[in-house]
This record gives sequence, structure tokens and C-alpha cells, in this order.
Amino acid sequence: MKVNKDKIENVLKQLVPEPDALSIVEYLIGKSNISEFIIAEELDLEIHKTRNLLYKLLDQNIVTFKRKKDKIKGWYICYWDFNQDAIAHLEEKLRLETINRLKERLSNEDGGFFYMCRFAHARLGFDEAFEYDFKCPECGELMNQQDNSRTVDFLKSRIEELEKEQEQFVKEQEKIIKAKKPIKATS
Ligand SMILES: [Zn+2]
Repeated sequence: MKVNKDKIENVLKQLVPEPDALSIVEYLIGKSNISEFIIAEELDLEIHKTRNLLYKLLDQNIVTFKRKKDKIKGWYICYWDFNQDAIAHLEEKLRLETINRLKERLSNEDGGFFYMCRFAHARLGFDEAFEYDFKCPECGELMNQQDNSRTVDFLKSRIEELEKEQEQFVKEQEKIIKAKKPIKATS
């Protein structure tokens, strides 16, 4: 199983940011059917906290579990697995969300005019600034048009970067799917 720890860390940072959640996932890599009591013990965490984090990871499909009855004690215990396949899909979902958010910001910035006083109290669009007679609502000083070309450039290059990543991701996924297809026997 190929595991990219940077990717896992990146996804967890955004979805389950508690550091102990990352420890749990890292502990589960390469293992299978691990009881929550073992996880708690090995990572020196309270069982209550361990369960709480496992449920948060489960919500994101990052882990899966099986419930089995303990033959001796008679109660149910959950056995956990890391779900490696979920990481790539979550990563894609987060990336697409970021691209959309940045594009929305870009459409607000691009071609827009913004006005600010020299103290940067408020940043107003043209219509709003016009209503205030181009005077800062906070201090009354004249507001000047702000050059936002650096913001626009930054947004454009970040979007381009993420779209390239996404393209690469789609290509890799296609390769994986192709590799999984059974080879037809030729007669
Ligand atoms: Zn001001």
C-alpha cells in the first residue's frame, strides 16, 4: 500500500485538525482490525477521547470499523481500519472547493475598483465609496483608489496552480482505474 503522509496530513489539517487524530491515522497505517482499546493504549490517550476522534474520522470516511462481540467480556468492541482510498477523494473535494472560493474572490477583485483612506479603515467598492462621497466612513479622510493588481495576480496564479494539480490528479486516477481493469483473455 502506497501511503503519502503529506497528503494525509494536508487532508486531516483541513477536516479533523486535532493532532491526536493524525497520530491515530498514522498508527493505523499498515495495520488492520485494531481495537479502540489498543489504539488508546498505544497512543496513551483516554478511551473516550480516542473514540471521539475515531468518530470524527469516520464522519469523513477516513477510517472504517467492524463491531464484534467480545466472547469473554460479552460486550461489543470496535475494530478500526484506515481507509486509504478516501484520502485522494477528500483531497480532490477540498481542492475543488478552494478553486471555487478563489474564483469567486477573483471575480470580485478583477476589474473592480476599491477605495481606501490612508489608514486602511475600510475597503469599499465603487458604488459604496461613491455613496460616501469618497470619504472614509470611519475618519472622513479622502479615499483613494487602491491598486489591487497584486491580489489579482496572486489569485490567478494560485488558481492556475491548483487547476494543474487537479489535472494531474485526474490523470493519475485514470491510470489507477486502467490498471485495475481485468485484462481480457484473447482466444
Ligand atoms: Zn479612514
